[in-house]
Parts: sequence; structure tokens; C-alpha cells
Amino acid sequence: MIETICRTFLWTGSNEFSRKALIAWGRICQPKATGGLNVINIKILNKAAVLKHLLALAMKKDALWIRWAHTYYIKNRHIEDIHTHKAEAWVVRKIIEAKDEVMKMRTDQHSITTIRESFVKQATMDRLTKFGIQVQVDCIFCGKAEETFDHLYFGCHSTNKLWERILKWLGHTRLIGDWNHELIWISSMAKKKECKAEMITAAFAMVVYCIWREKNSMRFNKGRYNIDEVCKEIAMHIHIQGRKKIKWRSGLDYVNKLP
Ligand SMILES: [Zn+2]
Repeated sequence: MIETICRTFLWTGSNEFSRKALIAWGRICQPKATGGLNVINIKILNKAAVLKHLLALAMKKDALWIRWAHTYYIKNRHIEDIHTHKAEAWVVRKIIEAKDEVMKMRTDQHSITTIRESFVKQATMDRLTKFGIQVQVDCIFCGKAEETFDHLYFGCHSTNKLWERILKWLGHTRLIGDWNHELIWISSMAKKKECKAEMITAAFAMVVYCIWREKNSMRFNKGRYNIDEVCKEIAMHIHIQGRKKIKWRSGLDYVNKLP
């Protein structure tokens, strides 16, 4: 309801219901850096607030309302096993029902391991061939091996070199392994809170994206791959992203040259 009023006001200047909307609300709520207006997404904010209460409830935080909910509703049961009932207080019911959201997130997390598989599904040339689309099966970067997911990330000398160069630029000289190896390495980086680790994680995402984009551009749009240009683009991206993060400032000073 509140969101509808905000949305209507943005497009019509009044609070009367209207279907006028030139850009999807989800897009408006995105950060300015990605083309949005940085408007708070009330639905997400509300979800986060409820989940915070659920966490407090699950952790049995020392608060009167939590003790009350445990005594009257939860009664030593596991929150996951509780089935809410309409007779229960609305607030408690909504908080407990938020567990479904958590369960969904858990399933999503499990499915992260299958992201690679879905990526492969899109990627591999044999899939396109199955649909009768005839394409060149050799790697578009080097032409020396079959284009498979494992070759693209990072079996191919060209893509391997890109990630190695970006890492070196960020002060990390190391031998690049295969996808699984790099994924484990970057996952451990992503858990760290230091500026350098955050920058490396952001750069990795950018490298993966750029390889994918360049591959498609070359294959379907006659694009040309230029490693210097891609390195420059990633460096710019890190600097632009870092400008908003105070924590990154010291790290950015070290990477003031191009990779
Ligand atoms: Zn290759």
C-alpha cells in the first residue's frame, strides 16, 4: 500500500491510484550506480526487520517478548517445526512464519552448487548443437580447445591470464587453478572483512562476467577481445565502486596504475 502510494506519486505527482509507471519499481529501488534512484524497497526492508526478530527469537535473546513467545507458543520446540495457528498473536505468527523465508534461502544456498551446472547448460556448445544451432565448438579465445565451462574458467590461457593479471594488480601473485580451486579460494576471501579481500572478491565477479560477455560478443557480435581494454575496464570499475567505500580508500591508493 505504502509502496503503491510512493510509486504513484513518483510518476503522477499525486497519491491517486494510477497504473502509470515507465520503469519497474524494482529498478527504481536499485542503487544509483546501477541505474536506480536508491529508493528504499519497503518490502525488502520489512522482510529484513522481521528476519532480525526471528533471529532474536531463535537465539533466545534476553527480552521480555521473547520469553513470552517461548513460554506461550514455542514451548521448547524447534522453531522450524512450529506450525502457526490463527489463534496466536499476529506479530508472533508473522515472525515465526518468516522461517519459511530462511528455509527458502537455505535451499537457494544449496543450489549455488548447481549454478555451475546451469551455467554450463547455457554455455556449452553441445547444448546449442542439440537445438540444431550450428556453432563453432572451439574456444573463441584461443581456438586450441573445445569450449567447455572448465576451459573458459580458467583452463584457457587467455582467461587464466586475465584473472592472473587482475590479481597481480591487486597485489596477489599466485598460480591460477581450475574453476573449483578458484571458487574455494575466492570463497575464503569473501569471508574476510579487510579492504583488499573485498576488492579481490569484487574483481573476481567482474572477471567472470567479462569473460562471459567477451565470449558472447566475439561469438555472436563479431567482437574483438583485447585483454588491455578489459583490464582497464575492471580497474575503473573497482575505482568507481571503491569511491563510495571509506574502507577501500587505502587499498585504492595501491592500485593507482593500470593492471
Ligand atoms: Zn581457450
